[in-house]
Amino acid sequence: MLLRVENLSKSFPVEFSVFGKPTKFLRALYEVSFEVEAGSIFSIVGESGSGKSTIARILSGIYKASGGQIFYNEKPLEDPSKNRDIQMVFQDPDTSLDPRKTVSFIVEEGLRIQNTVSKRERRRLVLDIVRSVGLTEEVLVKYPHQLSGGQKQRVAIARSLVLKPKLLILDEPTSALDVSVQAQILNLLVELKERYQLTYILITHDLKIVNHLSDHTMVMYLGQIMEIGRTEDIIHKPLHPYTKALLESVPKPGLDNLSKFSIKGEIPSPLNPPKGCPFKTRCPLCFERCQEKPELVDLDNRKVRCHLYKREV
Ligand code: ADP
Ligand code: MG
Repeated sequence: MLLRVENLSKSFPVEFSVFGKPTKFLRALYEVSFEVEAGSIFSIVGESGSGKSTIARILSGIYKASGGQIFYNEKPLEDPSKNRDIQMVFQDPDTSLDPRKTVSFIVEEGLRIQNTVSKRERRRLVLDIVRSVGLTEEVLVKYPHQLSGGQKQRVAIARSLVLKPKLLILDEPTSALDVSVQAQILNLLVELKERYQLTYILITHDLKIVNHLSDHTMVMYLGQIMEIGRTEDIIHKPLHPYTKALLESVPKPGLDNLSKFSIKGEIPSPLNPPKGCPFKTRCPLCFERCQEKPELVDLDNRKVRCHLYKREV
């Protein structure tokens, strides 16, 4: 297994006493476990606030986990910020690219910090990678604001790829882009994955993308795994009412076996999450048992957290 995550938890202190001691925490992740096979695409889906970016930030060393363990190539990964094999592409290139720096400076930066190759070699690597993301060398002297949205995201991809990662975490890589450009960037990512033998963690709320691209899918809600398994099973035979609701919200899904589900109401505040099942306030099938917190149980080739299903014996 390239990556194995066990019981990852994260709490953010959100209120402090006058002495600066945290008095209130927001739990963004509750014991999240999953594995990513080398060469595969692992998707994380869920509405905004479900903890997807927090997972990405922990894996790339931006946040420190509050609990749990990460194994990379089956070895404990104590400090992900030191592991260059894992790189991240952020959702919005407008905030992730420094507006005061040229493309050439931005793409070269990681190599400069690493300081393992000569200046000349760095220039060559930058030019190579800029070309392989479908840009021409003219962009090297430009600033981000002189580029289109799609070009900026290509620069962001180049900046990560120049460090020769094995695992690329793509946090909603196309959601800030025009619909017409989204497909181009996705096609590019597929092509780059083959060319550089990459593994992807793809974070998205767009289940159409998941369906086409990914091998395994994890559905998150308020920091917890609701359902996890092979993408095919999750998309074509969803078990959790939340997964069904998410699929129902996909326009023209062209997917069968969907009953009438739709997500009711607002997502509860993670500062004050429902007791018992986190989805109970919006679930069309909620019953008495949902006052208790459901466990994640193995069922039908996947894991699902819902009282409608019992553990297979
Ligand atoms: P997603 O990417 O699924 O939209 P996030 O991982 O960004 O979700 O956020 C999960 C929860 O953690 C949200 O409620 C968010 O407000 C909270 N959160 C994320 N980062 C921080 C932070 N640095 N400080 C406090 N709360 C945070
Ligand atoms: Mg996010």
